[in-house]
Amino acid sequence: MINNGILTLFDIDGTLVRGARCHYQAFLEAVKQFYGMREDISGINYAGKTDPQILMEVLDMGGIEKKTQTQNFQNCLDFMTRYYQENVHRENIQILMGVKEILPELQKQGVLLGLATGNLEPIAHAKLGRVGLDGYFPFGGFGSDSPDRLCLVKTAIKRARDVFNYQGEQVFVIGDTPRDVTAGREAGVKTIGVATGRYSVAELEDCGADFVFKDLTDKKIFMEDIGI
Ligand SMILES: [Mg+2]
Repeated sequence: MINNGILTLFDIDGTLVRGARCHYQAFLEAVKQFYGMREDISGINYAGKTDPQILMEVLDMGGIEKKTQTQNFQNCLDFMTRYYQENVHRENIQILMGVKEILPELQKQGVLLGLATGNLEPIAHAKLGRVGLDGYFPFGGFGSDSPDRLCLVKTAIKRARDVFNYQGEQVFVIGDTPRDVTAGREAGVKTIGVATGRYSVAELEDCGADFVFKDLTDKKIFMEDIGI
């Protein structure tokens, strides 16, 4: 399929799927294992943050010194990945409304599909693989590329150009949080907010998304908005 000049970069949690208990459990187990932490970390707002960014916040919350944090940081992320891969089969992951219809349609129309997610790359693939969506996304920008969401969005675009010979200028970041929208705006691309996470349509509009949907069920309007 010839690319039609449009690139869509999807967030995962709250945008394509919901169900992150195992992911949360992976953080708990990892910080217990490497830092002896047993604090309740359920109070942290994870939405739109990258895995390494969340890990830093969790460790700060546990009062772990920066120097100590650095020593085992990568080991801790690797442990999380293994834990997730080993336990994802027990996870109840739900595909959000409209996603199963919109992805094949985008593909059919020649849109290049990628990810822009804070998940570590192997966790992203395991999560989407669990519900049969991984095959739609041959590349992306991930939490394993950078703790900074803007950087991972830029990485995803660079991979589209370098690896998939993407030459268009119509790039869309699609996500459920103001962090997705801000990262997309700062990267100089168009943004689409979807209110299927913890943020409302109004909140996503307020942070400057170009388009906002309550969910991804209105395939026709979505296609029109991205220029098909
Ligand atoms: Mg999200």
